[in-house]
Amino acid sequence: MNIIIFGPPGAGKGTQSDFIVKKFKLFQLSTGNLLRDEIKKKTQLGLEINKEINSGNLVSDKIVGKLVENFLSNTNYKNKIIFDGYPRNLSQANDLDKLLIKYEQKIDLALNLKTDIEIIKKRITGRYSCNKCGKIYNKFFNPHPKNNNCCSGEFLNKRGDDNIDVAIKRFNTYTKETSPVLDFYKKKKLYKEINGESSIDQIYKEISDIIAVIEA
Ligand code: ADP
Ligand code: ZN
Repeated sequence: MNIIIFGPPGAGKGTQSDFIVKKFKLFQLSTGNLLRDEIKKKTQLGLEINKEINSGNLVSDKIVGKLVENFLSNTNYKNKIIFDGYPRNLSQANDLDKLLIKYEQKIDLALNLKTDIEIIKKRITGRYSCNKCGKIYNKFFNPHPKNNNCCSGEFLNKRGDDNIDVAIKRFNTYTKETSPVLDFYKKKKLYKEINGESSIDQIYKEISDIIAVIEA
């Protein structure tokens, strides 16, 4: 089963993907994470990507497509992928369709975490994560537990691009570019919508129920 999870930056895609990956034994393809890994490695590509992300722009479809193809071509992940943050525009959706045919796979579900800009602002400005294990936390909604050895102060990290101006810009870019992609999956009858403003637990339950039905 391959799933795509949609929603503006800060909607909770990464948070939910973490749970879903464990429960249904899937692999998360987060283009955001793949890009940040590249930045960390400080390659020429990484430096280019860093510049684009921090100015609130999207990275080129070609660079992202390359990272996605690497993932899709890995037979360990075959039909066990949750796409988080990809495809972001219609051109990427078409690229993905071609890659799916090439690697003999298909999408089973396109989930949209529908979330308004006012909530997104709080989610983004409060977001931090653990550098060591990758867990995502939130100052307002989901602080890290005090007695957690791994996610203690020294590893907690705020993303450089998580400020309010970048959040608004990313939200607007997302809405403009991704709306046609949602229509693309509606036409394929793969689209389902979830209220992204519910609690983390509630959303997790709704997503689990939807996947369980598909798996049955
Ligand atoms: P995305 O991957 O869509 O950009 P994240 O999963 O990183 O979003 O979540 C953004 C921020 O909002 C994080 O700080 C996370 O802890 C918090 N968060 C995620 N889902 C919820 C929710 N349902 N309610 C409240 N806070 C949430
Ligand atoms: Zn940790």
